[in-house]
Amino acid sequence: MVLNDLGKKINDALSNLNKDYHFDKQLLNKVLKDIQLALLQSDINVKYVKQLSDNILQKCNNIEEAVNKKKLIQQLVVQELTKMLDPKKQPFSLKSGKPNVVMFVGLQGAGKTTTCAKYANYWKKKGWRTCLICADTFRAGAFDQLQQIATKIRIPFYGNRTETDPVAIAIEGVKTFQKQNFEVIIIDTSGRHMQESELFDEMKQIYSAVCPNECIFVMDGSNGQACLNQAQAFKKAVDVGSVIITKLDGHSKGGGALSAVAATESPIIFLGTGEHFDDLETFKAESFVKRLLGLGDFKGMIETVSEVIDLESQQQNIKQIAKGQFTLRALQQNYKSILKMGSLNQFMSMIPGMQNIIQGQISEKEQINKIKKSLTIMDSMSNDELDGITQITQKQLFRISKGSGQPIENVKLLIDEQKTFAKTLKKIMPSMKDSDSKTKRN
Ligand code: GDP
Repeated sequence: MVLNDLGKKINDALSNLNKDYHFDKQLLNKVLKDIQLALLQSDINVKYVKQLSDNILQKCNNIEEAVNKKKLIQQLVVQELTKMLDPKKQPFSLKSGKPNVVMFVGLQGAGKTTTCAKYANYWKKKGWRTCLICADTFRAGAFDQLQQIATKIRIPFYGNRTETDPVAIAIEGVKTFQKQNFEVIIIDTSGRHMQESELFDEMKQIYSAVCPNECIFVMDGSNGQACLNQAQAFKKAVDVGSVIITKLDGHSKGGGALSAVAATESPIIFLGTGEHFDDLETFKAESFVKRLLGLGDFKGMIETVSEVIDLESQQQNIKQIAKGQFTLRALQQNYKSILKMGSLNQFMSMIPGMQNIIQGQISEKEQINKIKKSLTIMDSMSNDELDGITQITQKQLFRISKGSGQPIENVKLLIDEQKTFAKTLKKIMPSMKDSDSKTKRN
């Protein structure tokens, strides 16, 4: 998860409340100072930091009476950080069965083309008919870059190598894909530099010609607080509906970028967290802050699970999970769903405490490979073994290992993993029942 350091530092500051037996105003001030420092080190504007700690202090008037002081301050930190990052505006939501035209704008090098592909890949995985249009005639190689990516992720592409007018390409591309009933029609536009008025003129022309349903501004998060000016300039030129902040993978200035954009009241919808097509995290302020502090996000977890799991065909599986029974079959179904889910790390960090466990462990690509191996192993198990009806003895271990071509140690590891998941699930089931689930698409 992005900004791991910030979450860790805030938690370190809060843990002082557990260590010290005597609680007084001096200790509270020290904890708040440490939190302030953590926020400033993440590049969050000093004005917000002061406001945030003043608000917490004000709400801590009767803290001496609170039984769990750490929890109280933790809740206030979550509340205040959420308030700071929440633009209080709902982002555009795609309409199923309709041609949703989404135009991407941003400066050259911000990660616009990469993000168009990530966005296309994200919706394609969720079952939307998605396509890409290259309306960047300024940068040599833009056509080839997007075409190559589109081929890689198997998404239909429209571009015109000989046409020099980006407006004409955008219009033709949208027309072509609308006729073919595509639902998410993504237009990549030229980048250039902020000083160039041509960039803004061209952007406005494309915008007026295709009237997109959504205009997404892509911004390089490593610019930290400087993102504020950029976001404001683009908002003035076209009707920016939402923002995607890129290059937040481990960048210390991420907090500055996030809070600066939130201040412009444009909803941040995704964060770019790497160069790979799957390195895209959905962004919702409260869920992000909770995951940041390792508090988990059950609502988000259930929403994500409901989105990728075909609820009707998996009723049985869900009933079993609800009873706290987590069989190898359930693990198999969930692994298959995880492969459809996008960012695995983001999903794992929705489970409380998991953030600390996955931090610094194997990379997402290695985790995906591990899941694929586990699925191969489970393909060699019988139905009764998957459903936990028959025990897997030494003899069966050999058979499964031979059938799947995987070492016996890997089969044992997988079975241990399923047992650990089952135990964890039993513990967390009461909290899960409180959360609402949502069905796929609106
Ligand atoms: P554009 O000029 O705005 O279209 O930018 P590109 O999409 O060509 O990206 C510029 C560079 O940024 C490329 O090297 C991308 O791989 C890289 N990039 C894009 N998004 C991310 C991200 O979220 N994290 C990291 N680390 N690199 C990114």
